[in-house]
Amino acid sequence: MRTVPDFPEPGVLFRDIMPLLADPVVFAEVVAALAADAPGPIDLVAGMEARGFLLAAPVAMALGAGVVPVRKAGKLPGPVASATYALEYGTATVEVQPFTVPDGSRVLVIDDVLATGGTAAATVDLLERCGAEVVGLSFLVELGALRGRDLLPGRAVDVLLTL
Ligand code: IMP
Repeated sequence: MRTVPDFPEPGVLFRDIMPLLADPVVFAEVVAALAADAPGPIDLVAGMEARGFLLAAPVAMALGAGVVPVRKAGKLPGPVASATYALEYGTATVEVQPFTVPDGSRVLVIDDVLATGGTAAATVDLLERCGAEVVGLSFLVELGALRGRDLLPGRAVDVLLTL
């Protein structure tokens, strides 16, 4: 993993996971570990745009589950359900197609990095408003100092690596 200062903005220390995914052995180990940690049977794996897609799809395959993309606003043809959350400056919106999330489906949420937790908390809210039961969230990396877990009280949060 690379640590890149001042990306994408000055003052941000960016953890770049791409070298891990580019290594076939590490990629396979990451996918297997995320799948092994799944809390019980999973119907759908939801992955956040964009690096979450790279993990959600192979984990879904490993679990025999379907995959649902959680996209930034305006990328999915409607109807969509959306959730807006606060960023340090401004807001962001995530969207899913509710007809891809059957009522009561057991959903595992996957992303590459848990930072402040805003994206993950909005994703849980969004999926549950669509009728899902979010049974857990899994991340390759958690940036512990940012306390993202505090926005996910009572949730099963699994991380492979805490920095
Ligand atoms: P949060 O909403 O602050 O938890 O930010 C999480 C989202 O931002 C995830 O979708 C991550 O992909 C992305 N993110 C935040 N910090 C980093 C980082 O250092 N490396 C890679 N992605 C990051």
